[in-house]
Amino acid sequence: MGNKIARFTHAGVPDADITVHPFATEDGLGLELTRFTRGESDDVVLLVHGLTSASDVFIMPEHRNLATHLLDSGHTDVWALDFRMSGRFPYDTESHRYSLDDIALYDFPAAIRTLRSHIGDRRLHVIAHCLGAVSFSMSLFAGQVAGITSLTCNSVSLTPRVPSFAKLKLGLGTAFLEYVVGLPYIDPRFADAPAFTRGWMLSKAVSLFHRECDVPACHLQSFQWGAGKPAMYEHRNLLPVTHERVADICGASGLHYYRHVRKMVQAGRAVKFAPGDERYAALPRDYLERAAEVETPLLLLAPENNKVFTDSNIYLHGILERAAPGRHELRTLPGYGHLDPLIGKDAHLDVFPHIVDFLKRHGG
Ligand SMILES: [Zn+2]
Repeated sequence: MGNKIARFTHAGVPDADITVHPFATEDGLGLELTRFTRGESDDVVLLVHGLTSASDVFIMPEHRNLATHLLDSGHTDVWALDFRMSGRFPYDTESHRYSLDDIALYDFPAAIRTLRSHIGDRRLHVIAHCLGAVSFSMSLFAGQVAGITSLTCNSVSLTPRVPSFAKLKLGLGTAFLEYVVGLPYIDPRFADAPAFTRGWMLSKAVSLFHRECDVPACHLQSFQWGAGKPAMYEHRNLLPVTHERVADICGASGLHYYRHVRKMVQAGRAVKFAPGDERYAALPRDYLERAAEVETPLLLLAPENNKVFTDSNIYLHGILERAAPGRHELRTLPGYGHLDPLIGKDAHLDVFPHIVDFLKRHGG
């Protein structure tokens, strides 16, 4: 494997000055911002990954990635965040009881403070994916972060909706895995575990139901998320190398965040996980209660074949239109699934131009 793509590198953004900015949250986690710059810009962009992934979804070397696309389109100051869900950190595969409220309350305010210490009061646009989009939207709508010029959310934001099979998995799956199978997290690499370990057996069992391809990590991704074969993306939208190394891009993840997602799916909107817990008193019970007051325009990207969060963003756009007519935008993405708008081989042709157009209309 002489041409193997290295993990956790910056090789995908060769033409930029790259600096790394560690910071800590008030509840004691070390997180990281990475800055890719070709010079100062009045419109700064922050990229926020989802669960099981990391900043790497934006800087993959094998395709024209979003960070490079933004730099080439004149957004010459791009930052990527690794927050507590990041596969670059151990936090989500350790035993923990973090919910998306912790992320909204601790991770994004600290990240924005750190970023602002470098960029001052320049315009700041955020592009977020998956549970990164849910939790960033929560932070914004709870007033924990302010001064955001625009927010783009791929796949989902404040109204997580999932296919009915995934609802079943959210309800029973976490307890089944934790208490019956005895696994505190799911790792797409379980097929590489020693034979007859719990992870190996789970991988073999899951693959029995997935004949759509021969990549066990792809099957486990579909087991973990949504309902589909595959669930996370459309095979035809990925380069073969991306499909084969999907475990590099979407790593192991714990089960506790699923419990919060389940609660939101049941409520039909983003709600606080533990409403009675004093530590979260600064957060609203219902994150949409101030929807009319939030002035940051949202671009909601709705992949047409979304088998993880289905029509979540279309549904949310309807709610936001009633709260603040004309403020937010919806863009459906024909032929795309949940994650391929970011990691797909043609995302720079089909998806990224919509984002750049939105940034330009709301920037300088
Ligand atoms: Zn596959």
